[in-house]
Amino acid sequence: MPTPIVAGNWKMNTTLTEAIALASEMRDALDTIGEVEKVLCPPFLSLKAVKDAMEGTSIRIGAQNMHHEEKGAYTGEVSPGMLAELCQYVILGHSERRQYFWETDEAINRKVRAALAAGLKPILCVGEGLEEREEGLAKSVVTAQLRGALNRVSSSYALAVAYEPIWAIGTGKAATGEAAEEMMSTIRDTLIELYGDASAMEVPLLYGGSVTPDNVAEYASQPNVNGALVGGASLDAVRFAGIARGIAAG
Ligand code: PEP
Repeated sequence: MPTPIVAGNWKMNTTLTEAIALASEMRDALDTIGEVEKVLCPPFLSLKAVKDAMEGTSIRIGAQNMHHEEKGAYTGEVSPGMLAELCQYVILGHSERRQYFWETDEAINRKVRAALAAGLKPILCVGEGLEEREEGLAKSVVTAQLRGALNRVSSSYALAVAYEPIWAIGTGKAATGEAAEEMMSTIRDTLIELYGDASAMEVPLLYGGSVTPDNVAEYASQPNVNGALVGGASLDAVRFAGIARGIAAG
């Protein structure tokens, strides 16, 4: 069983001042929670400050995106090497990146490979839209996203996968534990095909989509769910700590 992960995606929220205040609350609320890897993903501009605030604690840092090139004429972009000095994780392929920034599976694949090469742990996001689910295409969409993003990725070591059905993100309409587990087991099977049994079983699979302290137990108790990727509730230290505890309790 992999060590479970609870990752908080702050998205485009918090100024530097607000991030420092939230980080301090998070440190107090999270540091002593064991049996779960706690990861905070603030905006780029706050990574250094949040990293400094977490010095000497058990809390890890992640970015929300990155460019795949190491350096060069890519105005406004942030490279894997820049991130590797500041954080351990990077969220890649979030549905908001796919939807609003036209990221394709090919582009996400370049980022996954670049992140791994730089020593970063990708939290690779996959998930179907509502129409795709209603048309019975959820599994094939998610499997295709997974295979596309992992093309020519030779090892699943350092990889985490987040299943985030788009219709559940920020909507309060969370998937049932049963539906999450059904998709997770499809994801696990795909990883087994790609990397073999032993390696695939070590990949943490996170559920994301309207996770709260009240519903986290429903996911944590599923055999193939090894954590949560949290948006809205990760902007509140008490709620996020409640989710972390729920994940740790399994
Ligand atoms: C997310 O955006 O990754 C997410 C899961 O958001 P929320 O928890 O707000 O649904």
